[in-house]
Amino acid sequence: MAKVAINLSTGSIQQEEIIVGIDLGTTNSLVAYIHPETRQPHAINDLDRGTIVPSVVHFPAGGDTPIVGTDAKQYLLTDPQNTIYSVKRLLGKSYKDLGNHATELGYRVIDDNSEGLVKIRVGEKFYSPIELSAEILKELRSRAEHALKTPVNKAVITVPAYFNDSQRQATRDAGRLAGLEVLRIVNEPTAAALAYGIGLSPDEEKTVAVYDLGGGTFDVSILRIQQGIFEVLSTNGDTYLGGDDLDRAIYDYWAAEYQLSAVLFQNPSRQQELRLLAEEAKKQLSQQDSLEFDFHGTQLPLSKAKFNSLVGPLVERTIVSCRQALTDAKLTPTDLDAVLLVGGSTRVPLVYDSVSAFFKQPANSSLNPDEVVALGAAIQADILGGNRRDVLLLDVTPLTLGIETLGGLMDPIIARNSKIPTKAGRQYTTSVDGQVNLKISVYQGERDLVSENRKLAEFDLRGIPAMPAGLPKVDVNFILNADGILKVEAIELRSGTSQAVEIKPQYGLTDDQVEKMLMDSLTFAREDVAARMVIEARTVAEQMLYQVERFVEKNHQHLTEEEITLTAAATQNLREALEAKDKDTILKAVDELEALTSPYAERVMNISIKQAMAGKKIE
Ligand code: AMP
Repeated sequence: MAKVAINLSTGSIQQEEIIVGIDLGTTNSLVAYIHPETRQPHAINDLDRGTIVPSVVHFPAGGDTPIVGTDAKQYLLTDPQNTIYSVKRLLGKSYKDLGNHATELGYRVIDDNSEGLVKIRVGEKFYSPIELSAEILKELRSRAEHALKTPVNKAVITVPAYFNDSQRQATRDAGRLAGLEVLRIVNEPTAAALAYGIGLSPDEEKTVAVYDLGGGTFDVSILRIQQGIFEVLSTNGDTYLGGDDLDRAIYDYWAAEYQLSAVLFQNPSRQQELRLLAEEAKKQLSQQDSLEFDFHGTQLPLSKAKFNSLVGPLVERTIVSCRQALTDAKLTPTDLDAVLLVGGSTRVPLVYDSVSAFFKQPANSSLNPDEVVALGAAIQADILGGNRRDVLLLDVTPLTLGIETLGGLMDPIIARNSKIPTKAGRQYTTSVDGQVNLKISVYQGERDLVSENRKLAEFDLRGIPAMPAGLPKVDVNFILNADGILKVEAIELRSGTSQAVEIKPQYGLTDDQVEKMLMDSLTFAREDVAARMVIEARTVAEQMLYQVERFVEKNHQHLTEEEITLTAAATQNLREALEAKDKDTILKAVDELEALTSPYAERVMNISIKQAMAGKKIE
């Protein structure tokens, strides 16, 4: 059953459903599509705001509807606690993954000190990076619908080549939450290559480097393209290096050279003004050799030569990454057929020159570096839409395959639309002390709760040595061969115990059933994500209760009566919150219990360190 879209501007029936390509970036995002007549990719333009949507979400006080993009950006300075930027850095990550970076953001990232995924607190509400990314995607979707005057329900979304499974899954979930069926998650360098027309013909063989220097991140990937397959040979980079650092170098130079510290001291709006001036200077020096700006009566000159000497060390760091990427791919510059430039910062002439010199060939920068990833995503979308019959379409798995985890949740291992053959895996552990068996239940489907999906198989991994919860390491691997046969293997790494089954996921499923499963996943996306979030919040809460109770039991002699009473009250409060089945209520109670007990825990740890040190002589 094909869907038919009606073009509202002309009233005509559009035979082809438009699938958009989305570049969901750390600082900026874009949406592009293939023009039905010219067959060329175009980034969708908003009349007054251009093609770029800043990846910023602002929650106005008292309002529930967030503001996204250019209009949200101005609140970064005036209302940083309620204005979320760089959310892509948090996607699919736990607080532990983030480490020190969590405190550098202007908004509140919740530290529940667990392996669980991070949450962001805005007022009394808790948002996951998935929900926040979904807000950006909704804005892009509505821009596209507005510009194309047709409903947009399907998309291809790009991610960095180094994104892991859980980051890719999080991106997919964000798309679903925004009401989009995500036909494929594509690597950004692959999209860039497609935009440059590389990999579109099946007999083409090429090796290319994609150098991507954006506002806040840098990465370089080496790709081999063979028979329509894009293989990432190596990636390298620095997720905290970008155009913002070039601006910062100018800012610091001006501030020191022209004694601006008194003017800037504790004056965020002056600081912001100077930052914007530094960015403007950087951009102008991409076109001219020198300039001078007036900053509240002080003349601030800058020559291109000076700029180059300021940012030289930063650019050199990117070249070190390029060298490493080539070494890892076991290649030399002459093995490369092309070097493609992506990201606004590649407009800096020093960047262009340094990259071209290093790779011993002129880098290709003929496409707009801000748009190239979105344009490539649109081309990939067009291929998936079946509009480019000349391009090889690889066999894909029609439904997601995964296993059941705590709380009856579906943990996807091979995403729907993955090319086959494919192999993917993940590591799990036990949730109860001394657990010697682990049940592995394999499911197929797009819903978040396994109860709504189709069960394919179930087996027990027996003979796990008795250990405390969390210590055993169980690798579960899914191997889907070219015939669509799925082999599921589980192995406990400490003991070597293993077990495997083989299943045919497509067995007994008609196309209509597959289609219904897909439709249901879209219809119930919101409810599913909400249910998943409650379950995840409950798991966090239960772990927290367990830890706090064990802590009080073991250390009551180091706690005052008052501390014990307060902890008991906060614990009780969390138990009651659990009854409420509302994620915000639960997480708020977790946050409060955490805030109350973490100073005690720190104090007790200091006491035990002191006790351990006492009696030990340091010689
Ligand atoms: P992106 O994340 O790819 O959108 O890149 C944004 C970065 O590109 C920001 O740091 C911009 O300041 C930078 N940028 C945009 N235009 C220019 C230009 N003409 N010259 C130098 N940098 C630029």
